[in-house]
Amino acid sequence: MNILIINSGSSSIKYQLLEMPLAKITCLGSIERIGSDEAISTYKTDTHKVEKTYPILSHKAGLERITSLLLDSETGVINSTEDIDAIGHRVVHGGSNYTETTLVTEEVKTKIKSLSPLAPLHNPANLEGILMAEEIFDSAKQMIVFDTAFHGTIPVTAKKYALPNELFEDKRIQAYGFHGTSHKYVSEKANEYLNKKHTKLISIHLGNGCSITAIKDGKSVDHSMGFAPSNGLVMGTRSGDIDHSIIFYMVNTLGYSLDKVNELLNKKSGMLGLTGFNDLRDIEEEAGKGNAQCILALEMNAYRIKKYIGAYTASMNGLDAIIFTAGIGENSSLMRQLICKDLEYFNIYIDDSKNELRASTLREINTKGAKVKLLVIPTNEELEIAKQVYKLLT
Ligand code: AMP
Repeated sequence: MNILIINSGSSSIKYQLLEMPLAKITCLGSIERIGSDEAISTYKTDTHKVEKTYPILSHKAGLERITSLLLDSETGVINSTEDIDAIGHRVVHGGSNYTETTLVTEEVKTKIKSLSPLAPLHNPANLEGILMAEEIFDSAKQMIVFDTAFHGTIPVTAKKYALPNELFEDKRIQAYGFHGTSHKYVSEKANEYLNKKHTKLISIHLGNGCSITAIKDGKSVDHSMGFAPSNGLVMGTRSGDIDHSIIFYMVNTLGYSLDKVNELLNKKSGMLGLTGFNDLRDIEEEAGKGNAQCILALEMNAYRIKKYIGAYTASMNGLDAIIFTAGIGENSSLMRQLICKDLEYFNIYIDDSKNELRASTLREINTKGAKVKLLVIPTNEELEIAKQVYKLLT
């Protein structure tokens, strides 16, 4: 069965075509910087690698480009769009309605649209990807895996806010949790590796979006993002935790409009607001040259993560392993080092030379004999989505 996974972000589409159940990757690639004249398209099969820069102004144009690469007479991997049996879409916010992999229906699409204000950087792009895929791959089954789904197990103690009860009961204002596909995938890998019946894990997903999850015996029990993917850690352009009084102050005293505050918190804050740079590679390079703002931003980012490690170790009453994943978690030895230093009290000891080694598979970077394992695990949201879609279809 050929399953095409489409992971649409605000300005990117990542995709993989997998042959299931073997999970053999037929091709994979991405289109980044959608909306610009210099969008970067990458496409890789066993025998070909194509990387080109084109103007790609919309997700529709991006998906058309991907389709033409899949069908190309020289580098393509399918003869017709009908060769695709199913499409798996990642959707960030599923609210309280969807905790399982779901078939796309008109009702589901309406719900995704209605949740867009809670995930403005993601849900509109995710929905656009679904609409385009329905048009182009009209014979394929369209399925959705929601980022919120893995967090359906968070107990009420952790997911309920201390607000009047009716806001939880009637309006479903609660913490939902995000990056679920990634946290699920890497925590399952960690559990296979640890080979223990009961485990207490902290999974740290550090990419453009950043989140941290406490996972007990394979189930999410607490998570740093909340009602929307904006709470918690310092991210590329999102502030993470702030005192909500600041919003009232900005509106009532500084005279900012709510739209301006929303844009400021989601698109202009985080590492971008602190340093002027969004990409951690630039921030590390600047810090290396002595840029004080960049040094402070890296330290603030690591400090926030440490606080969550302490909180989640307490909430689970123990810790077997910490997982680092996604673009920064997998690649930045500096961030891992800043996070793990001075945590001896928690039996956390990082081995500096192992931390510097690069690999594309699971690796352990704690010192020998350390009680808490420190694991770098490459995430694979696309494979996780394919597994879930295949499971539902069969
Ligand atoms: P993701 O959202 O998982 O694609 O991660 C994107 C983030 O990963 C960006 O902030 C990149 O700067 C960061 N990243 C990717 N490669 C590296 C690297 N080698 N060192 C530091 N950060 C990296």
